Order: sequence, then structure tokens, then C-alpha cells
Amino acid sequence: MALKALDIYKLLPKKNCKECGDPTCLTFAMKLAGGKADVDLCPYLDDEAKAVLGATTRPPIRRVKIGVGERAFGVGEEFVLYRHEKTFYHPPGILFKVSDTQSADEITQVTIRVRDESFTRVGTKLQFNGIAIENASGSKESFARAVATVEESADLPLVLISENPEALALALVQVGTYRPLIHAATQDNYKAMCALAKKHGCPMVIKADSLEGLVSLVKDCAAEGIQKLVIDVSPQTLGDFLVKSTAARQLAITRKVPELGYPVFLDTTKTGMQDAAIALGIVKYASVIVTNPLSPAQTKAALTLRQNIYTDPQKPIQMNPGLYRIGSPGKDAPVLMTVNFSLTFFTLEGYLESTRIPCFMLIVDTEGLSVLTSVAAGKLNETLVRDSLKKFGVENEVTHRNLIIPGYAAPLSGRIEEATGWKVMVGPRDAAEIGEYLYTEWKK
Ligand code: SF4
Repeated sequence: MALKALDIYKLLPKKNCKECGDPTCLTFAMKLAGGKADVDLCPYLDDEAKAVLGATTRPPIRRVKIGVGERAFGVGEEFVLYRHEKTFYHPPGILFKVSDTQSADEITQVTIRVRDESFTRVGTKLQFNGIAIENASGSKESFARAVATVEESADLPLVLISENPEALALALVQVGTYRPLIHAATQDNYKAMCALAKKHGCPMVIKADSLEGLVSLVKDCAAEGIQKLVIDVSPQTLGDFLVKSTAARQLAITRKVPELGYPVFLDTTKTGMQDAAIALGIVKYASVIVTNPLSPAQTKAALTLRQNIYTDPQKPIQMNPGLYRIGSPGKDAPVLMTVNFSLTFFTLEGYLESTRIPCFMLIVDTEGLSVLTSVAAGKLNETLVRDSLKKFGVENEVTHRNLIIPGYAAPLSGRIEEATGWKVMVGPRDAAEIGEYLYTEWKK
């Protein structure tokens, strides 16, 4: 059963030494109670307290970091089975796969794609996370060469795929300090793999055909001192993956089988239905997803789906309020007011850019609510518009006093005119019609 903050506090050393990163033992206890901290952060806990606290306060899915540096990413530390219960916190890393049977040029090309390609959606830069290198040749020298080729082109998080500890040992000489994820320890090789993981400080995938097999491997690896694990449920089909990954998540979240509380690995190239596997993996609990290099269309679909699923459903994505410029607007340029709900902002911005009419966008702070909702809730009102015009110095930017407001804010037009002294023009309800509106109403 989960302990309350005060019960946890009683077990802490009460030194208030701040070494855990929190100002007092009580704040650390509160974080532990919320599953937001790890007991290992306090160096003064005795073994008994550690055992009690560790079992009840650790996030049900452990956090595992893959790689080092700017592009390193953390997975796991999830708390719910369904996204609407709270949110999903750590998006899965998606890695392109190369094989040591490919030429150095081919490997470099894929690596550079992952290093450089990105696109921006609702203000966030989206990109793939790293490279998975498979020892398909069976030769440890070829494997090490392929790993070195990737390493020469980019500092990216890596997954090294081989069940041969000797091949991995040679490859890790090239990249051991980058802490790649090594794949995979099985019942047959786990001792040698644990030794490698320990030597290089790498996280490690464990692989078994059944959840029982994984539980047993987790215990074996813990006995070897290895706990930074990712689990591979070895799916035979996509249905098999869905059943096993859901069961593992459920048993971990409810803490019925805490040994399954690790991020899940999915190699979509083994499923025969790669696109469907990527989508399923993103939605149903895969934390490290390996795929063959994707086309531009597949890239957009995968990264957009990941962004959507890992956006907090209870928190609208917001823009910073302010005065934004489209092109190089002059003193006679139109001023369009709208809310700071990011989808509204980016939709309107896109349509305005396509009109090629330089203009100003005045973004007011409705705490991320859409126009319709913020009008209904009273958040978008004449005072907010008046204060925003002043705060962002709009009067100094243009010589006219005409303000275009969204169609859905039409009921406020009179009050905004009264409060601001600006002439209000009611724009269209649909952002797609803004170009035609500007050409017919603004320019007439
Ligand atoms: S490190 Fe331990 S003793 Fe020090 S403040 Fe944190 S919880 Fe308290």
C-alpha cells in the first residue's frame, strides 16, 4: 500500500542536509509520496528504510536514460494505464535501424538523417532519437565497424543489437562511454551481459517469451547488480505485443508484479507490419521503438502521433502572449487579435503567411483556452484586450486604430470598442477565410 508523506517522513534521517536536491526532508518525503523522486537520492537512508520506501514510493515504471549529452532521452516513469487518468510523461524514443551488413555509406546516410532531420509542429521541434545497430552478419568485427561508422557521424543515443556478449564487448570499446542500450540479455547469456552493462554503465534490454520469464530474468539481473533495464516481450504478432505489453503495464502500475515495472522495447521490423506496429507501440506502452528508416509521410505520421499521445490532455498547449509579426508589417498593417491556445495560433499564423499580407498578431492570455471557450468562460473580455494592447505597445507599432477580432468573439465587439477606443472589425469564424477577409474587408 502507498505510504503518505508523513509516514515516509518518519523513516527519513531528518538531517535537512539538501543532498537529495530538496530543501528539507519533508519536501523530499512529499515528492516520494507522489512518486516524483527516488529513494536512492538520499545517501543517509539505512537498508531497512530503503527497502520499505523503495517498494512503496518508486514510480511503478522505472525511469531509464539512454545515451548521454543533448540528444539523450529518458523513458519510463509512467503512472497510469490510460492517458485520460493523468497523462503519459515520457514519449518513446524512436530509433532507425541499420545493419552491419550494410555499407559504411548507407549507414552514414541513415545516421545523418536522424542527426539532422526535424520538423516543427505546434511550436515543438520533432525528431527521431537515435540509431539501432544490428549484428546481422554474426561477425564481431563487422559489428564493431558499423558501430564506429555511426559514432563517427553523430553523437546519438544508440541501441546495440546482438545476443553475443563478445560482439557487444568489441562494439562497446567504440561507444561504451555514450551509454548505449544493449540488446539483449536472455536466460542463456545474462551473466556475461550483466558484466558488460556494469563495466560500461549501460542500460540493458532483457528478453523472454513470457512475462514469467521476464520476471525471473529481472531477479537474476538484480542479483548481478543490474537494475537499469528495458523489457522485450518477444512478440510473435502485433496482437501478442498488445496483450503482453498491456499486461506488463497493468501488473506494474498496480504494483502486483513490481518486477515488470520497466520500460518496454519494440522492434517493429520483426513484426511484418511496421507502420501499424509503430502506431501500436506509441499508443500501447512501448518506450523504445526500433524501425527501418521511414519515408517523409511515415515520419510525419509517427512523430505527430507520438506528440499527440504524449501531450497532457488536461493542459492546453499555450503560446506566450505578445505581439507577433507576420512578414515585415508597417505602420498601416492590420492587427489581428486572438487567444494563446497554440492550435489557434499556429492555424491562423499559417493562413496569414499564405496571404502574404504583412500584419501583426496580438496574442492575449486566455490560459490556453480556445476563442469559443474563453468567451463563454469570460476569460476573453474587454479588459484583457485593453491591457494587452497597452502591455505589448501596439499603439506604437501602427498609426491606425483598427482591431480585427475573431468571429467567435463578435459578442464582445461593442465592449472592446468602448474599453479600448479602437474600432473593432469582426473577422471570420474560420481561420481559413482570413485571406479573403483581409483582401475584401481590410484592403477595400
Ligand atoms: S538527503 Fe536525506 S537527510 Fe538530507 S535532506 Fe534529503 S532526505 Fe533529508
